[in-house]
Amino acid sequence: MTNPLPQGATIGILGGGQLGRMLSVAASRLGFRSHIFEPSENPPAAQVADAVTTAGYDDVAALSAFAESVDVITYEFENIPTEALDLLQELRPIRPGREALRVSQDRLVEKTFLTDLGLTTAPFADITCLADLQAALGAIGCPAILKTRRLGYDGKGQVRIDSPDQAEAALAEMKGAPAILEGFVEFDYEVSVIAARSAEGSVACFDPGENIHSMGILRTTTVPARLSGRQSTDAVLLAARILNALNYVGVMGVELFVTSRGMLVNEIAPRVHNSGHWTQNGCVIDQFEQHIRAVADWPLGDGSRYADVQMENLIGDDMDKLPELAQETETAIHLYGKAVVKPGRKMGHVNRIVRG
Ligand code: AMP
Repeated sequence: MTNPLPQGATIGILGGGQLGRMLSVAASRLGFRSHIFEPSENPPAAQVADAVTTAGYDDVAALSAFAESVDVITYEFENIPTEALDLLQELRPIRPGREALRVSQDRLVEKTFLTDLGLTTAPFADITCLADLQAALGAIGCPAILKTRRLGYDGKGQVRIDSPDQAEAALAEMKGAPAILEGFVEFDYEVSVIAARSAEGSVACFDPGENIHSMGILRTTTVPARLSGRQSTDAVLLAARILNALNYVGVMGVELFVTSRGMLVNEIAPRVHNSGHWTQNGCVIDQFEQHIRAVADWPLGDGSRYADVQMENLIGDDMDKLPELAQETETAIHLYGKAVVKPGRKMGHVNRIVRG
């Protein structure tokens, strides 16, 4: 700890969704205050934070006042407009830093960064027009996935292409946005590593979790994953390489495809991650506290896993199962306080302790 945040200091969090909410709780538990910046009214984090600014990312006065009221700034999502970051970074440190945001905001930049580091990703190509797409489909082959370079999440902004004659229609779905074509990876399963790096440069990773998605949305994460000891070590070392290369401070989610020929990096998220929620009930120090410790320039905590856990997201009308879930033993319920249930909306999650 070179310059740890003192008790009572305020952590500014950009974004007031469930991740911001759980970060606020962790900050509070360590004796810090939290201040949320969020454009929409009554976000989940507002129910637990010490202060909330409701303003857009183009509101210069609100951004300045927010920055001046906090000691350090972090975020719960990666798509923060560049102009807002330019303004904020003049006033307070932003952790994780700008480089991690620059890399993860654009799938083309991200995949180029990862392959330059010597890591393997799906084959990819930059797509700006139909001729690019046809050439890339020729080189990469089908099936493939066309994705917008920016602003995609939970499978949004993605189209699968099964034959070259679908190219034109797929490109039309991008609505003119810059895009990337990725070869479809026939993976055996997906895992993610939740990795943390302190301001001093030490790295600690949680055990890799195995993820199941449906319609592009995470449904469950199970620990331990099916990985062998050697594969787990490889996954953790690979994540550490990414954090070190970015001189990263905070928690990052690294999503991997596991194939018979090795592990490929799907994407990185420079923030706490849905697939790390199991840590709340499987470890002494969870991903939210680990992130707050890192941005506050504290030493990282012990994230060793002491239980087998399955995390299940409660999406949309999964909330109807609440009465039964509340009867389950060894199941921790985490709800986000969202008033309106919508299909596909993450309303909460449960962590079930799994006994062999
Ligand atoms: P993403 O938003 O890029 O993480 O994609 C969401 C989910 O779609 C991933 O977790 C995978 O299940 C699937 N997916 C994305 N890209 C690929 C790919 N290149 N090959 C196979 N599946 C993919």
